[in-house]
Amino acid sequence: MFIDGEWCEAEGGRRFEVFDPASGAVVGSVPDGGAAEARRAIAAAGRAFEAWSRTTAYRRAELLLKAHALMTERAEALARTMTEEQGKPIRAARNEVRYGADFLLWFAEEAKRVNGEILPSARPDQRFMVLHQPVGVVAAITPWNYPVSMITRKLAPALAAGCTVVLKPAEATPMCAVAMTRIFEEAGFPPGVVNLVTASDPVPIGAEFTSHPGVAKLTFTGSTAVGRRLASEAAGRMKRVSMELGGHAPFIVCKDADPVHAAKGGSLVKFLNTGQACISPNRFYVHEAVYAPFVETLTERVRAMKAGSGLEEGVAVGPLVNAAAVEKVDRQVRDAVDKGAELRAGGARLTEGALAKGHFYAPTVLAGVTSDMLIHREETFGPVAPVIPYGDEDDVLAMANDTEYGLAAYVYTRDLSRAMHLFEGLRFGIVGINDINPTSAAAPFGGMKQSGLGREGAREGIHEYLETKLGGFAI
Ligand code: NAP
Repeated sequence: MFIDGEWCEAEGGRRFEVFDPASGAVVGSVPDGGAAEARRAIAAAGRAFEAWSRTTAYRRAELLLKAHALMTERAEALARTMTEEQGKPIRAARNEVRYGADFLLWFAEEAKRVNGEILPSARPDQRFMVLHQPVGVVAAITPWNYPVSMITRKLAPALAAGCTVVLKPAEATPMCAVAMTRIFEEAGFPPGVVNLVTASDPVPIGAEFTSHPGVAKLTFTGSTAVGRRLASEAAGRMKRVSMELGGHAPFIVCKDADPVHAAKGGSLVKFLNTGQACISPNRFYVHEAVYAPFVETLTERVRAMKAGSGLEEGVAVGPLVNAAAVEKVDRQVRDAVDKGAELRAGGARLTEGALAKGHFYAPTVLAGVTSDMLIHREETFGPVAPVIPYGDEDDVLAMANDTEYGLAAYVYTRDLSRAMHLFEGLRFGIVGINDINPTSAAAPFGGMKQSGLGREGAREGIHEYLETKLGGFAI
């Protein structure tokens, strides 16, 4: 762990092991922190805040640029660490490192654009000035599925704004967090500005983050259930919160779309990270006119996908994070098949040869899915593409919106008015129109409804870490 500029062990020297989900092998161990370590880190961040919040934006930008340079230099090592503890294919890990590094670059630039305003007053003797100031100590909790980019997406804007940070990464992926913290240390961020507490039990640390008077803001990425609980605890102290939570993305293929092109896009985005992405399509609504060629192309591509360790050449689909994730996917698939869905590809755990020791599930296509099936309601977080035929555009919009989630949605169409109609009608924070990667450090990322509060990245991203102050001057 890293507290007040020092690497340290947990009280009593407790540690926990980190596993490779592809083989079950132990790949490392880290200190097992608790409430006491969280309190020490919050205190250190509090002491560092006064001086750090008064550094110039130019200085903060310089340090973020150094961190960006170090991250770029270490990209390959970071990607390997990620594949070892998280499982994604090494090519996807390299892409994530690049995406993660972009946040350092973007917010180094945004640090210098936190502009205030002078407002006109109705009184001749009055002037108004609006100023943006850092909120204070930020507590950040990150998930395992994007173990590097979820850290920079939070820490880069917080540090750029002049906040100090205590980070608690996911239990499954603490080694990426250790590697990223070393980068912040070596870039020259002063002691106490970035602190890291690793832990196998997140509960006592979450409780400190939501109750400690020294924490001004909690930024969380993870499941809706945990996010809701943390946000309600934080409300008791009126702490600021940002919440990036679960999703249940619809993927709509309209009657005028090219079904082959749409199926290629769908297969790429669905199986990215073995389906363990908050913006992963979870329901493919395909117009009857293009349903057959869509399902055929999707099935063909999915059958050709190779599952295995992310470090092996040619592997498209890595393991799931743990046994419970495999069980959840299998339960949804069995439920769908029992209720009449057709299994076109996959549909079972993979246990042959080297796969036996890991958490593997075959890339799966289910056709003829209906709204009474679990998979139509629940976030899957696994390698399953459920396809639902539809005939009417208003119906499909209603079905797509009929979820408590509102993170990402996708539409394939060649008709401009249809694209605009669906873009405006979908109650989701991110909509990809013929686009399977509508994300960038420069673009606002976040969800509506139970998918969260606030936005990360873009101009909005830094404002999540700033307070607005009004000065009224009588002259
Ligand atoms: P999770 O169980 O909610 O865990 C996320 C983080 O919260 C981990 O660091 C976890 O620690 C911690 N945590 C769990 N219980 C806690 C508590 N009571 N107090 C404090 N911290 C606690 O979510 P997950 O299953 O790892 O992640 C998958 C979910 O994240 C999916 O629903 C996905 O859609 C969502 N996600 C959303 C976005 C987005 O940007 N909207 C991005 C990525 C993922 P431990 O690891 O130690 O349990």
